[in-house]
Amino acid sequence: MADSIEGRVRSGVDAFLRWLPRWQVGTSRARTRVCRQCFGSPIATAAGFDHDVPHAVQHALLSRMQAIIDEAVDDYTARNLPMVARELAKAAEPETGGYKPDEGLALEFQGLEIDPEPEPGQPFLFTLAELAERDRPVAPPAAEPPAPYSEEAKKALRTELELADDHARQVGTSVCLALVEHRRRISDAVDRLVEPQIDELLAELAQALENPRSR
Ligand SMILES: [Zn+2]
Repeated sequence: MADSIEGRVRSGVDAFLRWLPRWQVGTSRARTRVCRQCFGSPIATAAGFDHDVPHAVQHALLSRMQAIIDEAVDDYTARNLPMVARELAKAAEPETGGYKPDEGLALEFQGLEIDPEPEPGQPFLFTLAELAERDRPVAPPAAEPPAPYSEEAKKALRTELELADDHARQVGTSVCLALVEHRRRISDAVDRLVEPQIDELLAELAQALENPRSR
């Protein structure tokens, strides 16, 4: 597992570094909510990101790493944990079909708000979230309620869930360890492509504050 995780982390970092030159300060909308994926993430620490690195930049790398973890856990679940796999398939069923605006997006957009914050006096005709709600297929009435699990089956399912959790932790640790190896490449790129833009923005801001009338 470790080898393939290392390879996938390397490719993920490569893809992030190819994307980074296109990032521009000021083009990403300021978030009003804390991002659940990035806030306090050990992956951000492993990548060597500090608080000065803008969220959009961090999120682009972290979502790539999260996708590696999710994929590895899905794969492990499908191969080793039949009960969990069945439960996941059941949970996914009513979701099939319909428009899902937050699916199939490039990784750097995943987890970001899909709709702008509503602004007073700035009505939108519809929001993507509303569109998704409208398109959601009506679930057909369940033919028969599924038979409840026996105590023994519940215990087996709990064991499988614990195994899935353990595996997710192991993969997460492997991803972090692999990512540490790329810290230098990441920080070089951030120094070169991100920091100058932020310095320039701060300089402009300082100038505007010093000469408020000249602007
Ligand atoms: Zn984020």
